[in-house]
Amino acid sequence: MISVIVPCFNEQEALPLFYKETTSVFAGMDTDYELLFVNDGSSDGTLPLLKKLASEDGHVKYLSFSRNFGKEAAMYAGFCNVKGDYAAVMDCDLQDPPSLLPRMLEILEGGEYDSVATRRADRKGEPPVRSFFAECFYKLINRISDADIVSGARDFRLMKRSMVDAIVSMCEYNRFSKGIFGWIGFKTFWLPYENVERVAGTTKWNFWKLTAYAIDGITNFSQVPLDIASWFGMFMTGFSFLMLILIVLRRLLFGDPVAGWASTICVIIFIGGIQLFCLGIMGHYIAKTYLEVKKRPHYIAVESNIDDPCLLK
Ligand code: UDP
Ligand code: MG
Repeated sequence: MISVIVPCFNEQEALPLFYKETTSVFAGMDTDYELLFVNDGSSDGTLPLLKKLASEDGHVKYLSFSRNFGKEAAMYAGFCNVKGDYAAVMDCDLQDPPSLLPRMLEILEGGEYDSVATRRADRKGEPPVRSFFAECFYKLINRISDADIVSGARDFRLMKRSMVDAIVSMCEYNRFSKGIFGWIGFKTFWLPYENVERVAGTTKWNFWKLTAYAIDGITNFSQVPLDIASWFGMFMTGFSFLMLILIVLRRLLFGDPVAGWASTICVIIFIGGIQLFCLGIMGHYIAKTYLEVKKRPHYIAVESNIDDPCLLK
């Protein structure tokens, strides 16, 4: 059986289109399936629509959160609740084409791979500034962390049960799925495809949200930013030692009177800035640790039609 996890946040326009298309793809496949929709605290008609679909079609399962917990929490809830031998994560807006599923299943059944992941073949249709920052992000994170992340990778992937279990076992509170998929390893086949625009509704991401997500990704999988403070510190110590020798020599040889109030202030501000910057990096990690040690649940679900659902984890 294939389980498809679909996080939904205010998707009343896209949901019927997604359901129709996915169902028609599965109709042409010779496998049992379930569509697990995770309603991430939508405030529109998403939940009533899900209930209606579930009453008409036994393949439709849903899990509804008590509020908006974010896509990462919705995906985690999905992984905790799927029953299939294979599981896939798909966006509700048809940007992840269901028509790729038969091909993905075929590759997995070949036995050589544990998961089939998709990536955008190019970044057409995206603002150039965003593409530029996205490329920088992928270069940086691959260089400074263990998480192996392919540029343009999407969350859309089909994987075997063993991989699902590994993902569920990674119960960290600050989740960055692209990194988690890479970190757990397993053999992954990369399937490139042409990017498709959202069919209906609007995206929930803007530039700043993406930037915050990228910073989260880096700090979740790398300690290198913490080392920046030490490197700055070492460099500044060496530099100031040289300056000290220089100034003493100048005083002895030329007997210069005291001068340079402006340059002194500049140096003080410069060092102060670096110290605050490093403190900020440390603060970021401490804040994350604070959230982890509180061990709050990732999500709280209040309604579901799954037998024996995991409503809280
Ligand atoms: N989503 C969610 N919770 C959120 C934001 C988004 O479950 O807080 C879902 C959304 O319904 C969609 C998927 O995550 O199915 C991807 O969101 P979106 O299409 O807005 O992101 P984009 O494709 O623009 O990156
Ligand atoms: Mg989308």
